[in-house]
Amino acid sequence: MEIIHVSAECYPVAKVGGLGDVVGALPKYQAKLGHITKVVMPMYRTKFLYENDWELVHQSSQYLGPQWFNYNVIKEKTNKLGFDLYLVDINGLLDREKVYGYDDDTERFTSFQIAVCDWLSSWQHKPDIVHVHDHPTGLIPFMMKYCYAFRHLADVSSIVTIHNAQYQGWMGWDKSYYLPAWDTWKGGLLEWNNTINPLASAVKCAWKVTTVSYSYLNELKYMSNGLENLFEYEKGKSVGILNGIDNEVWDPATDHFLAKNYDAEKVDKGKSKNKKEICGQFGLDGDKPLFVFIGRLVGEKAADLLPDAISSSIYQHHGNCNFLVLGSGEPDVESHLETIKHQFGGYVNTYIGYSESLSHLLYAGADFLLMPSRVEPCGLNQMYALRYGTVPIVRSTGGLIDTVKDFGEYHGFGIRFDQAGVWDITYSVGRAVDLYYHKKNLLTWMQQYMMGIDHSWESSANEYLELYEGLK
Ligand code: ADP
Repeated sequence: MEIIHVSAECYPVAKVGGLGDVVGALPKYQAKLGHITKVVMPMYRTKFLYENDWELVHQSSQYLGPQWFNYNVIKEKTNKLGFDLYLVDINGLLDREKVYGYDDDTERFTSFQIAVCDWLSSWQHKPDIVHVHDHPTGLIPFMMKYCYAFRHLADVSSIVTIHNAQYQGWMGWDKSYYLPAWDTWKGGLLEWNNTINPLASAVKCAWKVTTVSYSYLNELKYMSNGLENLFEYEKGKSVGILNGIDNEVWDPATDHFLAKNYDAEKVDKGKSKNKKEICGQFGLDGDKPLFVFIGRLVGEKAADLLPDAISSSIYQHHGNCNFLVLGSGEPDVESHLETIKHQFGGYVNTYIGYSESLSHLLYAGADFLLMPSRVEPCGLNQMYALRYGTVPIVRSTGGLIDTVKDFGEYHGFGIRFDQAGVWDITYSVGRAVDLYYHKKNLLTWMQQYMMGIDHSWESSANEYLELYEGLK
């Protein structure tokens, strides 16, 4: 089969969160299973662009409303990522350093999607599957079916994967003229609550809808930022497929970002060397359990609770714990964290920003990973933590339910709590502190057990292929 993934992110080209990890890995594993997989994404001005060799494969122009634009499609020459990588260049719109966060994101991603459809329509043959991811590519299933210029693609199967339904790409009806001429009888397929809603449109128009965990699919029916009824209505064509992790990139035995590589047998020694490195760098006490948080400092991740939860844990557990936060996001949360860092010097430290290398070191050297998320469609952090023998402390939501079992249950290996609140986090930290100081053997058993759990992409990649096969 020939599968085209269209996405705003793909690791290592450009990554903001889990979407990048998934689109960097799933196509690679599909290619390993013998399929032709291509990833198409915007040509941002990232390091990857300048460090690799490219060939021009297509040049054309299109319209965003009355605005004419040129676009180029370039291809990475060596296939080093394990799939064909194509970047779409649109000067003035996509030539930026960041992926999202510009005032003209609507114009940027709409023109990107138009260029992709235009390019695919120009092919002599048709791909078997066009697989789009989240709202920045959500208009494609509609455009493939109902824009007159892209009729060539009308019978090509489209699939949308929902990595995060909180963001939907809303745009006013006054921008409907951005799309190339379309069948106006079908306007209802773009619409939700009086706006054009690209994510809702993808759910309506794609042949299949997938979410990145089973529990998230159920949650969307009662909590999806306004789309609850739509997910209920479209449940017949929706399935949950749990994300995998790229075991080649995330392997404590070979990970070159670590101070010391290790496997399950040497988990104790390996982790303590990495912990020593972190505690040295951040002025923390290596004899105390180290709790880390890695991620976007936003409400969805319940990052606003961290400052209070950390202070209250330090008081309640008599200073027998250390905390390190790696992330960036809402300015209020960042500054509150900076305050407690000064208040609890030697117990708390932060790295406000993005660091791929530090994240790897933290998964390896921490004892516990905190994920109090309010919303977590799948969550990759807890799966990386499991692979590196770091006990995840998670709120029971979305993919965290599907991947973490509390150690109070038979063969449990993590810590779970129900409410995204300071008290539940503090209490769970207490259970972890107790494990660390008083149940060392159990903790080592848990670490070795979790390192043996297989969350690799092989099985999830097969589930996607079965879904595609069903569309033939
Ligand atoms: P989301 O996509 O909602 O942000 P996921 O758990 O699916 O959350 O994926 C988060 C990914 O981003 C993980 O690979 C995590 O390690 C990485 N990440 C998040 N924030 C940072 C950061 N500040 N520095 C390094 N890596 C980060």
